[in-house]
Amino acid sequence: MGVAIGIDLGTSNSCVCAVVDGEPVVFADKEGRRTQPSIVAFGYGKSAVVGWRARRQLLYAPESTVISAKRLIGRRAGAEEVERMKAQCAYGITEGEGGELAVRVQGKLFTPAEISAHVLVHMKKIAEEALGESVTQAVITVPAYFNDNQRQATRSAAAMAGLECLRILNEPTAAALAYGFNKGKRQHVAVYDLGGGTFDISILRIDDDFFEVIATSGDTFLGGDDFDYAAADQFMELFCAQTGLDLRANRTVRMKLREAAERAKVALSGGGDVEVSVPALHRAAGGQELGFHTTVDRFTYDQWVLPLVSRTFDVCDDALKAAGMSIRQIDHVLMVGGMTRYPLVREAVRDHFRKPPNTTVNPDEVVAIGAAIQAWNLTNTEVEGGGSVLLDVTPQSLGVRTLGGFCETLIPRNTAIPTESTKVFHTAVDNQTEVRISVCQGEGRMADDNELLGEFVLGGLAEKPRGQVRVRVTFEIDTDGIVHVRAIDSVLGLERSIRIESSGGASAAPEQSHRFDDIDF
Ligand code: AMP
Repeated sequence: MGVAIGIDLGTSNSCVCAVVDGEPVVFADKEGRRTQPSIVAFGYGKSAVVGWRARRQLLYAPESTVISAKRLIGRRAGAEEVERMKAQCAYGITEGEGGELAVRVQGKLFTPAEISAHVLVHMKKIAEEALGESVTQAVITVPAYFNDNQRQATRSAAAMAGLECLRILNEPTAAALAYGFNKGKRQHVAVYDLGGGTFDISILRIDDDFFEVIATSGDTFLGGDDFDYAAADQFMELFCAQTGLDLRANRTVRMKLREAAERAKVALSGGGDVEVSVPALHRAAGGQELGFHTTVDRFTYDQWVLPLVSRTFDVCDDALKAAGMSIRQIDHVLMVGGMTRYPLVREAVRDHFRKPPNTTVNPDEVVAIGAAIQAWNLTNTEVEGGGSVLLDVTPQSLGVRTLGGFCETLIPRNTAIPTESTKVFHTAVDNQTEVRISVCQGEGRMADDNELLGEFVLGGLAEKPRGQVRVRVTFEIDTDGIVHVRAIDSVLGLERSIRIESSGGASAAPEQSHRFDDIDF
C-alpha cells in the first residue's frame, strides 16, 4: 500500500502533504510553490488547466476561469449564497441536469464537484511527482461547518479524482492535530480559521494525543473573498465616478477589480499605503482604453472590512456558549487560513480573546499537515504512535420535518460523532402504505429555514388501521459527518437502508460517477 496523502482543498488555495519517514512533508510543484490556487481554467489548449497557470488566465478570460468552486459545492440552485455568487462571478452559474447546480463555461456545464475534482487531481499529481509513486488514498479536509450535502459532494469529487477518501476531516480539527500531535500538550485551544471562503471556530481539548472537539461553529459564506468583493465595490464606485460610466453590471470589470482588491489586501498586510493600478480595465464606446488608479491606506481598507471581521466574533461567542466555556478558559487561539495574516484580523482576535493569538503554525499549510497526520494514523494503526484519538462533533443539528412544517431535532449540534438516534414513525391514516420523511440540517425551528438534505418514501407498508404500523428509523452520522438512514417496519419486520440522495451538487453517487485524470476540453 502506498503513501496516503492529506489534502487541504481550500476555497482560494489548496495544499498537499504526507508523512514521509515519520515527518510531514508539504509537497511543492516544480517551481517550488507549496500551495496552489484552487482555480480551473478552460479553453486554454485542449485540457483544463489548474493552479498557477489557471490563475494567470483569470486576468484576461475571467468568464472561462472558475474560482471559488468550494463556495458552490453541495449547494442547491436558487440558494441565497448561490445567488450572491452569481452576482459576483464572471463565469456562469446555472441549473444543470435534474435541477442541480452547475457552472457554465464556454457552453459546457460542470458541477462544482467536478471542478473540485480537477483541483484534487492536480494536487494528487504534485504528490505523485514528489514521491515518485502513484497515490490512491487521501484524507480531505472541509470547513467544520459544512453540512451533509457539502461533505457528500466533496467525497464525490475525490472519487472522480481517483482517490479513495479515507476520511473527511474538519479543517480546524486538522489544524489542532498538526499543532498538538506528539507534543505532549494539555490545554484548551480555539482554532480561528478564516480562509478564502469560509470561517470556522472550533474549541478543542488537547490532552497529549487525545483531541476532543467540544464545540464548533461557523459561517460557510464568510471569508477572504468577501473582503475582496467589499473592496472591489469601493473601487467600482470610484471608477464609475472617475469615468462617468456605470459599469457595475459589467462582470469582467468586476472580476478585474476583485483581483486588484486581493492584491491590495495582501500588500496592505505588509504595511504602508498601496498603489492600485489596473491599466486598460475597460474599453469605452469610442475605443478609448480606461484604466483605474488609486491609493489605499490601511485605515480606509479596515473601515471597509470591519463589519466582516466583527461577524467572526458573533460566531466565536456562539461556539464558546455551546462549549459552556468563557474566554479565560481558552489557553491558546490558533490562527489558521490565509486571512489571518491580515493585521486587523490579528488585532481584533487579540482584543476579543484578551491574549495574543498563537501564530506559530503556518496558516497556509497547517491544515494539510493535520490531514497528512490523520492519513498516516489511519493507515498505520499497528505502528506505535499511530493511534491518536480524535473525537469530533457534528456542526449542525439533524432533524425531520413534522406536521406544520416544524423541524424536530434528532441529533443536536455539537454531538460527538459517530452517533445515531432512532425515531418511531406511525401511520397517520387507515391503510396507509407509505411514509414520507424529510431530513433537514440546521438550527431553524421551521424545516424550511434549514438545509433539506433529502426526502425518502418508505413504501410497501402493511394496510392496517392508523397508528398500528410503526416504522423505526435510525439516523446515523459517521466519522466523516455524513448522514445515513435505515428503517425497520414493525409489521413486516423488514429492514432497509435508505440513501439520502444529496440534492445539492454531487453530480452522482461516487460509485456511479465517472472517474477522470483530466477532462479534455
Ligand atoms: P486560504 O483559503 O486559507 O488559502 O486563504 C486564502 C485567503 O487568504 C484569500 O482571501 C487570500 O487573499 C488571503 N490571504 C493570503 N495571504 C494573505 C496576506 N498576506 N494578507 C491578507 N490576506 C491574505
